[in-house]
Amino acid sequence: MLRFDVVTLFPEMFAAVTESGITRRALERGLWQIACWNPRQWAGNAYGSVDDRPFGGGPGMVMRAEPLEKAIGAAKAARGGTGKVIYLSPQGQPLTHARVKSLAGSDGAILLCGRYEGIDERVIARCVDEEVSLGDFVLSGGEIAALALIDATVRQLPGALNDEASAAEDSFADGLLDCPHYTRPEVYEGMPVPEVLLSGHHENIRRWRLKQSLARTRERRPELFAKWLAQRVARGLSKIEAQLLREIEAESNAAALRSS
Ligand code: SAM
Repeated sequence: MLRFDVVTLFPEMFAAVTESGITRRALERGLWQIACWNPRQWAGNAYGSVDDRPFGGGPGMVMRAEPLEKAIGAAKAARGGTGKVIYLSPQGQPLTHARVKSLAGSDGAILLCGRYEGIDERVIARCVDEEVSLGDFVLSGGEIAALALIDATVRQLPGALNDEASAAEDSFADGLLDCPHYTRPEVYEGMPVPEVLLSGHHENIRRWRLKQSLARTRERRPELFAKWLAQRVARGLSKIEAQLLREIEAESNAAALRSS
């Protein structure tokens, strides 16, 4: 069973996944488990302080090794002595759909959340198996990154979503961005819904959605599109994919001509 053990100074932040939405429902359905481990419990001093000044000077504080390692040890023991340790860090590999899918198919991990200037490097050397980043920016702590990782992973579990098809149609599931979505009213502030979506013609709707996904990915995420295309070409483009790509190319050339 998927289980996350989170080493954090702010366990209350994890109510965001235990008390709302899809992750809460999945927890209630017994699809995953979570436990938080606060390193303050192992501070070893009367004040419960887990940070200290950095050797060599400089601004900020650093999380001490011992309370963190003891918290990780307690989490590991609760998991029967095993468990991969992931440190949420801006210096890690960016989190991807592929990594989320592989986590969803695993027994989870121990998620280590840093604060202040970060954690003593020796904890990383001794205990951490993998560093994962939410992106090229700096958060105040690892908790928001851990929450994002948990949420993205849990929604991939079979039975977590009411409609099983929706995760498969989300962005990245097939290497493309998702198509646009519309709901009632048919006309909003003078803007009508694309006619094809009202036609009831399933094949045309499927074709329109695929074309939108292809065009959006090509325009917004050229590197993702190039990867998708290389994979599809290696496998053989379907007739409809080849046709849509030609249409998109022609439309984009015509738009470029018009604007020049
Ligand atoms: N001094 C560190 C650096 O520049 O690499 C940043 C420390 S940051 C203020 C405090 C904690 O937030 C880090 O230890 C890490 O756990 C977390 N964090 C910050 N940015 C993150 C990101 N992009 N992804 C994942 N975790 C992040």
